[in-house]
Amino acid sequence: MQYFPVFLDMASAKVLIVGGGVVAERKWRLLAKTPARVEIIAPELTAALREAADTGVIDWQARAFVATDVGDQRLVIAATADPEVNHAVAHAARRASIPVNVVDDRAACTAITPAIVERGELVVAISSQGAMPVLARRVRERIEQALPQGLGAFIATAGRYRDSVRAQLAPERVRGFWERLVDGLWREGFAESDARLAQRIDAALERSGDGAATPPGRVTLVGGGPGDPGLLTLRALRRLQDADVVLFDRLVNQALLDLVRRDAERIHVGKRRDRHTVPQSDINALMIEHARAGKQVVRLKGGDPFIFGRGGEEIADVAAAGLQVEVVPGITAAAGCAAYAGIPLTHRDHAQSCMLVTGHRKANGVLDLPWAAMAAPQQTLVVYMGLATLGELSQRLIEHGLAPDHPCAMVEAGTLQTQRVVTGTLATIQQSVTVAELTGPALLIVGTVVTLRQDLAWFDQAGSTA
Ligand code: SAH
Repeated sequence: MQYFPVFLDMASAKVLIVGGGVVAERKWRLLAKTPARVEIIAPELTAALREAADTGVIDWQARAFVATDVGDQRLVIAATADPEVNHAVAHAARRASIPVNVVDDRAACTAITPAIVERGELVVAISSQGAMPVLARRVRERIEQALPQGLGAFIATAGRYRDSVRAQLAPERVRGFWERLVDGLWREGFAESDARLAQRIDAALERSGDGAATPPGRVTLVGGGPGDPGLLTLRALRRLQDADVVLFDRLVNQALLDLVRRDAERIHVGKRRDRHTVPQSDINALMIEHARAGKQVVRLKGGDPFIFGRGGEEIADVAAAGLQVEVVPGITAAAGCAAYAGIPLTHRDHAQSCMLVTGHRKANGVLDLPWAAMAAPQQTLVVYMGLATLGELSQRLIEHGLAPDHPCAMVEAGTLQTQRVVTGTLATIQQSVTVAELTGPALLIVGTVVTLRQDLAWFDQAGSTA
């Protein structure tokens, strides 16, 4: 980011525009939206600029630019058709350390002007830093379409209530108050008239006024999916952006954490196989404590919270404490990895059922699984946490009737750019996985559906071996 975006305060500021043609006029029209006092230096003016000068809206000096014209302005704009004059303006402004914009000459600028979307006090500025103005304009159009026209009026009306809301509500409830109001109005497209808007704010204030109990916090168990942030549900994204506190563990991808509201508190409760950094009871206590304080707590889990995610255990205590609980499902690793590896979990010609099991050993070291059911024909078997026990898993499946050449695949870091897929048979997979040095997270898929990958692998990265 070579250019740092800032908004300049134009109250009691002066802006110098050198040039009086159509380009200068365009710049002036933008600046005319601000309270800045605009001075123009140019021998000639367009009709519109001339009228502005005649009516005292701008200060015009009908002459050529001299370096001493630059001095006490907040911004200088060089908009003449003569590159030499423009350079002289830029030079003078640089010497005076005043930001200067030179029309159509980015190299000479110390300030570039963005494309703007305006809704009253809300201003969105967009720039590709000169790299691709066409794209910036397209982005501007999209933002134009996305932002309801009524936003400006809302800000104006709501702005008048800011102080009274702050005076009437406890500080920790102010943000929630506005968020609920904005969310409700957004769903309706901000179509309310000013008067109706004021009534709505009054009514909402009354509802959450002093008599009302502190709105309880809430714990939302959010399934973050297997890794690719594009696989989050809309509700998951919403909860991440509304969260006050987010508890997450090791399997959660950084790209997902980047979507969390910026001032939310992030708590790493990282779990590893056989090494639970923060005991479950402490995680539960943390969630309860924050929710009791009225906070929106998000417990972010990889995949789906109710599939090998201990989701049940995580919310049991919270629910028992009488707090509000919500579960947002996520795409589980089996679905994500299968899709991105090009392996349909069911298929008319291959598998009429799909079974999900965990390959994690019990505390006593035993791999206690329903082997006969797992070895059933016409079925796809998906093993979570099966990397460490892969050798024993494949051996036992063969003992229970699956052929040694039964196809299987290990998917590592499924759905991420670093995804790797190792395919083989029950007899060979352990060896292939060792050679490929897979470290996990990895998911084992066993079944003849694996052969379909030959034709269906659409997401293959360089690292894939089959
Ligand atoms: N609740 C999660 C599973 C948690 S158990 C879900 O629904 O997906 C952790 C196991 O999930 C890992 O050991 C691995 O087997 C699997 N897993 C999770 N994310 C994965 C990914 N991106 N690629 C491969 N396996 C993954």
